[in-house]
Parts: sequence; structure tokens; C-alpha cells
Amino acid sequence: MALFTVEKCPVCGNGHFKPFMSCTDYFVSHEVFEIQECRGCGFKFTANAKDEQHIGKYYQSEEYISHSNTSKGLVNFVYHRVRNYMLGQKRRLVESSTGLKSGILLDVGAGTGFFLDEMKRHGWQVSGTEKSVDARIFARQEFGIEVAEPGQLFRFEKDSFDAVTLWHVLEHIHQLNENMKALSRVLKPGGMLIIAVPNYTSYDALHYKEFWAAWDVPRHLWHFGPEQIKPFGEKYGFRLNSIHAMPFDSFYVSMLSEKYKKSKLAFLKGVVHGKISWLNSLMNKGKCSSVIYVFEK
Ligand SMILES: [Zn+2]
Repeated sequence: MALFTVEKCPVCGNGHFKPFMSCTDYFVSHEVFEIQECRGCGFKFTANAKDEQHIGKYYQSEEYISHSNTSKGLVNFVYHRVRNYMLGQKRRLVESSTGLKSGILLDVGAGTGFFLDEMKRHGWQVSGTEKSVDARIFARQEFGIEVAEPGQLFRFEKDSFDAVTLWHVLEHIHQLNENMKALSRVLKPGGMLIIAVPNYTSYDALHYKEFWAAWDVPRHLWHFGPEQIKPFGEKYGFRLNSIHAMPFDSFYVSMLSEKYKKSKLAFLKGVVHGKISWLNSLMNKGKCSSVIYVFEK
């Protein structure tokens, strides 16, 4: 199995790292992975993940698929109800940040196409890329949307899009620098890059430590905090315009973390800690379990 190795910090370029935490992949393999921290900027990454050719087996789980396609189980039921609500919230964020009621959108890591469908139904011209063949087939059959394979990102014309969105996708991408360059190239000047990622500086991350579900090793290769994402965007010519909390993620991630801890009353405890995380994020959006960063090109 070929390892994915990180020579230099993608944020600051420093090549010196220190061990941060050992985490178990509770979702699929139950293997242990090491998270390392950059000595220069504090950025964190999964040190012994597999390379792009070999990471596929860590996505092969009934449960991982059920995240997007079935409503089995209480946690998933809640997740699905919330997702429908969030689709509207995401659309409104794209519209308010671009100032456009309809425009040209690219969703990178479009999954099964729910967000593209939401945007298309509201008058947006949409394109998407997605690694999973099954998800692309689902998007075509369910919504009639042709989602492209990830390499298409590098073939879109320069200055094509008013907005590009990555909803919990950036942390999965091996070729981080190449993709950021491409994202900058395909956005129109003044276009918006909207990135949602988990936040390891959140209340729930600090509370659950190695059980925090959003470490999600080895699928999550990169672990961003608000302090690193700003300079990371600037490196590619983006200015951070605004940040937004994703309050429901506080609840979902807390419930899942309790499940990983094999807690009794996992659902109830998850709600309690989710609520604390959410209340914290009301005072400081940068403390939410997941954060949306809106960058302007
Ligand atoms: Zn660094």
C-alpha cells in the first residue's frame, strides 16, 4: 500500500512537523492513523494516509454510502432532515455573497448532486465534479445532471464561474496545491470561492479529542483551523470575505463522536454537547464544529 507523504506544509511551506494525536478510523477500517502538526503554523494533517490510488478502500462502507442515500437510523434521519434545510441555506449564502440571483456555479465534490439540483432549480447554470462513479450515476438518474470526473476541473476555461463551492471536500483532496491553483484559475475575477471544512478548534473537537468524528481519518487528509485557512487562501490570490457557522454540524458530529466512544445515551449526550458547541459558535463563528469560509478572487 503506497503511503501519502507530506514533505512540506501546504499552508506555510515549513518542513518540520511534530506528532499531534493518534486517531482511529471508527468508520471503516478501525486502523490507527497519526495526525501531525506543522511547527511553523499549527496546520494539521493525517501523516500516514494512503495515496490517491489506494485510499478507495477506506470509502467502502455501507455506512459511508448511507450518509447520502438512505434514511436508516436516528442519526441519519436527523442528518437527512437537516440536509434539506441546509441546501436552502447554502443557496442563499451563494446568492448573498455573489450578489447574484442566478449565475454560473461549479460544485467540486458534488456527491449525489443534491446541491447542484437546488441551484439549478433556482435558475443557476451548474457544473460539478465528483470522484465516485456511483454518485455521478445517481446525479444523472435522479436529477438529470451530468457531473464530471475530478480531472475536469483542470480543463474548464479560465474565468468561467461566478462561484465555486466545496462542501466538506477540500479536506479529502490529495493534490491540495494543484487544486487550489485550478480553483483560482476557473473563477471569474471577483468570483467567490466557498469552502466548508471541519474546525479542529471547535468546542466539540476539544471536548471529544481523539474521538471527534470530524477527524475522520484517513479520509480527511487535512485539518484546518480559522488561523490557517486565511493565509492558505491568500497564497492563491483570495481574500477572506466572511465566515459562517454550520450549527447543525455541531449536533451531528457530537452524536457521531458519542457513538464512536460507545457511550450509553449517545444520542442524548450528543445533543447536549452539540448544543454547547452551537452556543459557543453563536459568540464566535470560528468556534463552530464546521465553518464556511467565503473567499473572493
Ligand atoms: Zn505550516
